[in-house]
Amino acid sequence: MGNVLIATDWLAACAGCHMSLLDLDERLVELLYHVTFTSSPVTDLKHPPESGVTVGILTGAISNTHNIEVARRMRSRCTYLVAVGDCATFGGIVGARNLVGTQAALRRAYLETESTVDGQIPDSPELGRPLDFVTGVGDVVKVDIFLPGCPPRPDDLHYVFAEVLSGRIPVMLPRENFRYD
Ligand code: SF4
Repeated sequence: MGNVLIATDWLAACAGCHMSLLDLDERLVELLYHVTFTSSPVTDLKHPPESGVTVGILTGAISNTHNIEVARRMRSRCTYLVAVGDCATFGGIVGARNLVGTQAALRRAYLETESTVDGQIPDSPELGRPLDFVTGVGDVVKVDIFLPGCPPRPDDLHYVFAEVLSGRIPVMLPRENFRYD
């Protein structure tokens, strides 16, 4: 294991981008000679350590107040913050909620269709309060590198890791690289 720490965390979205780290296959094994993954799909720890994280990776959109807390926590603990995937970049598919509005979407999901919560809109504080507007990570914290795609290509994820670990900021990738599966 290397001394460079990489930590990931997951905001509002599907698990596609979070798990896309595993798409690196054998390159992930090579990476492990140079870095240590703390919170990640590899280690399955939930939170990044309090300090010393070189690369923080956030996937998913900012959809509720809890997402803001998670994004701020990661930002405060890492040197480089990478927003991976369309949801983290600009809200992506989670942002479709903006088209109808948060309250209308909640009513439709929990009150106007059959649900598993007895016709009530969940309001546990642990879930965070839904925001009126879904957005990307860069709207709440400074992001150093954006990697769009749904999910991004493994080659591009690897490129970003290689550049950051070499002390370089990755250049913007051509639009043709963005993958939408
Ligand atoms: S960008 Fe696509 S794959 Fe990634 S979290 Fe969003 S919906 Fe899932």
